[in-house]
Amino acid sequence: MSETTASESAAASGPSEHDPKGTMLKPEEHVLATLRSDGTRRWIRPRLSKGQLLTARRIVAYGLMVIFIALPHITIGGKPAILLDILHREFTLLGTTFVPTDTPLLMLFLLSVFVTVFLLTALFGRVWCGWACPQTVYMEFLYRPLDRLFEGNFAQQQKIDREGGSPRRVLKNVVFVLISAFLAHTFLAYFVGWKALIGYMTSSPFSHPTAFLVVLGVTAAMSFDFMYFREQTCLIACPYGRFQSVLLDDNSLIVGYDRCRGEPRGKPKKKRNKGKEPTALPVVERAAGEPATALAEGEAHASGPAEPVQGDCIDCGACVITCPTGIDIRDGLQLECINCTQCIDACDAIMDKVGKPRGLIRYGSRTNLEEGKPQRVVRPRVLIYSVALVLLLSGLFMGLSGRQSAKVTLLRGLGKPYAVLPSGEISNQMRLKVRNQGEEPRSYTIELLEPAGAQLVAPENPLDVEPGELKISNVFVVLPRDAYAGKGQLKVRFKVSDGKDFETVSEGLVLGPEE
Ligand code: SF4
Ligand code: SF4
Repeated sequence: MSETTASESAAASGPSEHDPKGTMLKPEEHVLATLRSDGTRRWIRPRLSKGQLLTARRIVAYGLMVIFIALPHITIGGKPAILLDILHREFTLLGTTFVPTDTPLLMLFLLSVFVTVFLLTALFGRVWCGWACPQTVYMEFLYRPLDRLFEGNFAQQQKIDREGGSPRRVLKNVVFVLISAFLAHTFLAYFVGWKALIGYMTSSPFSHPTAFLVVLGVTAAMSFDFMYFREQTCLIACPYGRFQSVLLDDNSLIVGYDRCRGEPRGKPKKKRNKGKEPTALPVVERAAGEPATALAEGEAHASGPAEPVQGDCIDCGACVITCPTGIDIRDGLQLECINCTQCIDACDAIMDKVGKPRGLIRYGSRTNLEEGKPQRVVRPRVLIYSVALVLLLSGLFMGLSGRQSAKVTLLRGLGKPYAVLPSGEISNQMRLKVRNQGEEPRSYTIELLEPAGAQLVAPENPLDVEPGELKISNVFVVLPRDAYAGKGQLKVRFKVSDGKDFETVSEGLVLGPEE
């Protein structure tokens, strides 16, 4: 079996390259697929297994890569499809811009995403990890293919691991860094927009040091991840992987090994007696979930003592050496399994070769794989997640449909509470913040409704505001001193309208001398 196997890792003991005397303490159990028992790194170089699932995953992966690169260039209704403008605290998603006052809507959106992930995980297990996670998509369909292109197949890669000093590996790493730099630039475009990014790329880094450092940092992080850390991101660092034990249940779809059909595993026995015709392996028709050994125990062959009936697993190890996280799927459900389906393709090819039905390793729920029962789709957690998602999406759509084209906030002026004018009148400064949330420029007219007899002094009225822009207008409310007598404060009401579909009334207080 290849050096990538987890079982080998667990079993390693005695003298080794790093512990010639074999005196080092060894873990009693298998700890991590990427660690040898002496603590050194086990580089996982999986063998590619071609098959229907790999083809389907390739189509999905390259489609996702194209979407990732194209998305910053796409506009919807004149706005970017996605622009996460952290500097101005504006987030544009699918052409809708969320501003800080839209925080509840943004929260609803994010909660909807989380609950969707929970629901999909409950139904389809780690389908995200295997099919759509950027780590898997880029690792398995961009960086590992480059491993094979530059260094050859998995055995040749392992040889370079052992011997080192390969110019091919140096060249490959240069290409890795260049690709990581390209992806880091694309990543930055999601935050600053593509046009701004082109401006950054064609000017000195000193004119935009923050953006330059972000690209540098992301390039370094991606190069470290895909050149060195690799599958350990899934095994050690990814929090989503750690949550699997609570997100999955016995009816969630997983990639699993049909133990009942596969065991007892063993190499095929082609010949029983020298000089006689080869005896075919027993092909035992069993109901799903019925163990192979049951037949052996209950149905002794008429000619001689009962032999244990061999399961369908021929213990070829193809499912292990193809695993990008270095585990053995036959050991049962493991957190390290990212459901990449490579072991399914590998085992199906073996089953074809030995003339047995495909699906010894397959998609199925734990109850399906171990007890032969069909997957139960409707279950309490699926219902709870579905109801929560419907409620969240309803709230989000209601919030979006009830969203006004502008947002007005009334604040008191900074500094002194009021000013006494040379005429003896009292002047209060107020600040009107107007944000245009619509798609076109608007002119907002400010009117003073209350208190009666007050005079409005507004330097810019109407107030012109561009789409997405926030403007602050300092206005003054002037009243005779007598108006405040015995009260010290009065209610003030402003009407702000754009003459089309927007109109709002904002209330506040103006202050003056009581006596
Ligand atoms: S590929 Fe299939 S037959 Fe080969 S070891 Fe794995 S489960 Fe057994
Ligand atoms: S066990 Fe199979 S599905 Fe899981 S990560 Fe390994 S190859 Fe992929």
